[in-house]
Formats: sequence, C-alpha cells, structure tokens
Amino acid sequence: MQHIYAQLPVADRAEVVVCGGGTAGAFAAIAAAREGREALLVEQLGMLGGSATAALVTPVMHSGIEGDPPCSYLSDLVRDRLLARGACEPDGRAFDPLQLKIVLEELCRESGVRILYHTFIPQAVAQGARVDSVVIANKAGLARVQGGVFIDCTGDGDVCVRAGANYTQGAPDTGVNQPMSLRYLVGGIDMHALRRQFEELKRQTGLDNSADVSGDGRRMYAACVKNRPFPLSALFEEAVQRGDLLEEDHLYWQAFHVPGRPGSMAVNSPEFFTRINGASPQDLTLAQLEGKRRILRQMAFYRKYLRGFENAYLAEIAALVGVRESREIATDYVLTAEDLFAKRKHDDMFCQSNYPIDVHGLVLSNTRLDGPGQDGRPWYDIPMRCLYVKGFDNLLVAGRCLGADFAAQASVRVQQSVRSSGEAAGIAAALALQEGVSPRMLPPQAVRARMVARGARYAE
Ligand SMILES: Cc1cc2nc3c(=O)[nH]c(=O)nc-3n(C[C@H](O)[C@H](O)[C@H](O)COP(=O)(O)OP(=O)(O)OC[C@H]3O[C@@H](n4cnc5c(N)ncnc54)[C@H](O)[C@@H]3O)c2cc1C
Repeated sequence: MQHIYAQLPVADRAEVVVCGGGTAGAFAAIAAAREGREALLVEQLGMLGGSATAALVTPVMHSGIEGDPPCSYLSDLVRDRLLARGACEPDGRAFDPLQLKIVLEELCRESGVRILYHTFIPQAVAQGARVDSVVIANKAGLARVQGGVFIDCTGDGDVCVRAGANYTQGAPDTGVNQPMSLRYLVGGIDMHALRRQFEELKRQTGLDNSADVSGDGRRMYAACVKNRPFPLSALFEEAVQRGDLLEEDHLYWQAFHVPGRPGSMAVNSPEFFTRINGASPQDLTLAQLEGKRRILRQMAFYRKYLRGFENAYLAEIAALVGVRESREIATDYVLTAEDLFAKRKHDDMFCQSNYPIDVHGLVLSNTRLDGPGQDGRPWYDIPMRCLYVKGFDNLLVAGRCLGADFAAQASVRVQQSVRSSGEAAGIAAALALQEGVSPRMLPPQAVRARMVARGARYAE
C-alpha cells in the first residue's frame, strides 16, 4: 500500500512536521520553532486547541501536586496572555476557549510556526524505521509533506498507526473506550437568581457540594451524577420521572463558568456510553447528531427547573466531539497504573502529575493517588520514552495518545500533562535535529534541562 502514496507530489517540507494542532500540537510546534527550527503545523480544522477549544473543554485540571507546577514554560505564557484579556483565572485553569484559539495562533505566528489549516492527514509513508512523509488531503487535492522529525499530536495517533506503529485501544478486558461527550456553552444566565436557588437547594438537602455561584456572579461550578448525593439530584430525578429528561441526561452533568463571559456556563455533558470509538467516523457522527438533541433537551430542563434561565441561550455547540481516549501508541516506555500508584520517578522525566485515574462510564471510577509512593514525593513522573514511538527513529507522539496503558491514560490525558508533552516533544525534535541523532539518543535530562532553562516549573 505504502508505495501508492509515495508517488504523490511533495507539496511542502519542514524540519519538524507537527500533525494535529490541538493542545499538544500547538505546544509542540511553538516549542520547536522557539528552538530555531522550521516547524509546520498541519490541522484538519481552522483553529488551534483541538479538544480545549473546538470541543469546548475548559478548565485545565489541577495536577494534584502542591503548587500545581505546570511542567511547561509555554503554559505560563498562555496563562499570562489569557489573563491580560480577562479570559482566564489567575491560576490559569478556567479559560475562554475562543480566546485560547487566538492566543495559540498569536504564539505560533510570533514563534515562526507555519500553520496549514483545513488539511487532514489520512496516511503516512514510512521506510523501515523512518517516516519519510505524511499524506495531506485538502482543497488542493492529495499530496505529501516531508519532514525531518514528525510529531503525532492527532489525539488518536493517526500518523503512528498509518506508519505501522503498534497501539492498544480501550479497557484491557473489553477494548471499550472511555465515553465521549459533546460539550456546549450557554449564555445569558442570571447568575444571581441561580445562586439564590443553589443556596436554597443546599439548605433543603443539607448538602454543600457542587452547586456554587460566587457572590459577584462571575464564578460558578455545578455538577450532578446519578446515584451520588448532590443538591441538584432531586431536580434531575424529578425531570427524569416527568419525562423532561432521559436517564442518560442524569448520568454525568457538570458546568463551569467561563472567564470573560459573564452569565455563561460551559457544560460537560451529554456523555455517550455506547458507540464511543473516537477513531470511528460513524461513532463521531452519531455523537454530533444525537448530542444536539440531548443538548436541546437539557436547555429545556434548565428553563423549566432552574432559575435565571429565562433569557438564556445556547451560545455554542462543540464542532469537535470530546474524545477522552481512543488509541494509546506503543512507545519505548509505556506508563502503567502501577507506575502511578508507586509514584515512580524517571531520569528522563518531562512531566509530574498526581491527577487521579479518572475513568468515566456508566459507573464512574475516580481513583485518587493518595499514598506517599516509593520515595515519599507525592507525584508520578512521565518519562520522555513515552513520546518515542517504538520502532521509529524520527516519529514522536504527544498528547492524550502518548504511551500509557488505559488506566494511566485516564490520569495523563488532562491538559496540564498534554501541554507539557507537546512542549517536550517539540524541544526533543529540535535538539535531535541539532545533534543529528534520533530523539531517543538524547541524554535523558536534556529536554527537561531546556524546558527549565526556558522557565518551566517543577516540584522539587
Ligand atoms: C469531554 C472531555 C472532558 C474533559 N475534561 C477535562 C478537564 O476538565 N480538564 C482537563 O484538563 N482535561 C480535560 N479533558 C482532557 C483534555 O481536554 C484532552 O485530553 C486534551 O485536550 C487532548 O489534547 P490533545 O492535544 O492530545 O488532543 P486534541 O486536543 O484532541 O487535538 C488533536 C488535534 O488534531 C487534529 N486532528 C486529529 N486527527 C487529525 C488528522 N488525521 N489530520 C489532521 N488533524 C487531525 C484535531 O482536529 C485536533 O485539533 C477532557 C476531555 C474530554 C473529551
């Protein structure tokens, strides 16, 4: 098969070709370009940020480590830019997805990254251990892009898989992926009215969790999960009994405020529990079609059962289905749940985390990493080897499909680690090109040393 694609004309070439411009991809391209390398970023959509922007996934989760070290210098730059335009919290966690797209583009432009939007990568052309090129499909037809180092940041490991890399997918016993979600934004909410209702519900139920609006109405957080006690549970149950919601609407629902957009909430729902293969076009289509129907049902529920929604409107539905987990690529080291529980440390660490093993499903399983671990330092490391695709000399993977087993991925997938992985991959590509070696031949601490020199913060 490969030889057919090798006949395609070469439309472009770059020292570092970053495939997919989500969080990992944007960070990888910016990091490589800031090391002085020619970086080309190829993205199927017309925006950067992927799940964080096109799938409307905000906020960035806390790493679970005291001080919340970002393990990335670019993360601080992004936070500062968002903060300057009132589009994130001082801690950088809650952000406005629209503004994040703009900030990532600005950083790409200033760093010299060349962006190629509206271009899908359906295939890779490899010769032995080297990737020669990726196939691109866009309005100009089919062509190839050649590169020195390729970084697969497609979230689903598309390039790695097409190049012939091994991978696993889904839970080890069933092969079933984590649920997908189609997220949306609601605007025009009277947060003060909602706050009064939340306070009443908390008094009535004696519960104090997950129904909060700040006094100035600018911050909110609410959640409701079936079979767990929340102040909002009775309202969801009543709506299900009266046919205003379906059982599935009640399984997992979460809402966050959006900085810079007063009266808005970003909803982490509806969630899909069947047909959830993020690498299946049919499943993704179904999530878009069915998801919109569920979103309209949830909007009607807010208007009928919650206060402050009289003038509320549906502000945005995600263009990209939120895929928590699809494929995990086989890399030189595959991070395991055991590594997480042991809080194992590695010489070639680029990222630290103590985020729980957060497996969604009909029954939620959120396993906190509470123990002290082997050395008493309460976090696990992600090593550079999780980014080096097994069997390939010039192919790295970053983001939610890096080398991890199903359970470890359920911790690693959060944006903090994904940002760090993109930055580390971009720097590794740049250093490897400079040294004329495969990235895996770099000294174990070389990439982290560069990240730290640039201002990346880590826990001691
Ligand atoms: C519903 C949901 C809720 C979540 N909640 C949180 C949360 O609250 N906080 C948190 O920190 N994390 C959360 N996460 C996890 C986190 O948001 C994601 O794991 C992370 O954003 C993934 O980043 P990525 O760069 O690896 O992939 P993505 O952001 O998915 O980027 C992949 C990019 O590649 C592009 N692409 C894909 N295939 C191709 C191709 N073949 N050719 C060209 N382009 C391609 C896509 O368009 C996209 O831009 C959540 C995830 C989901 C799905």
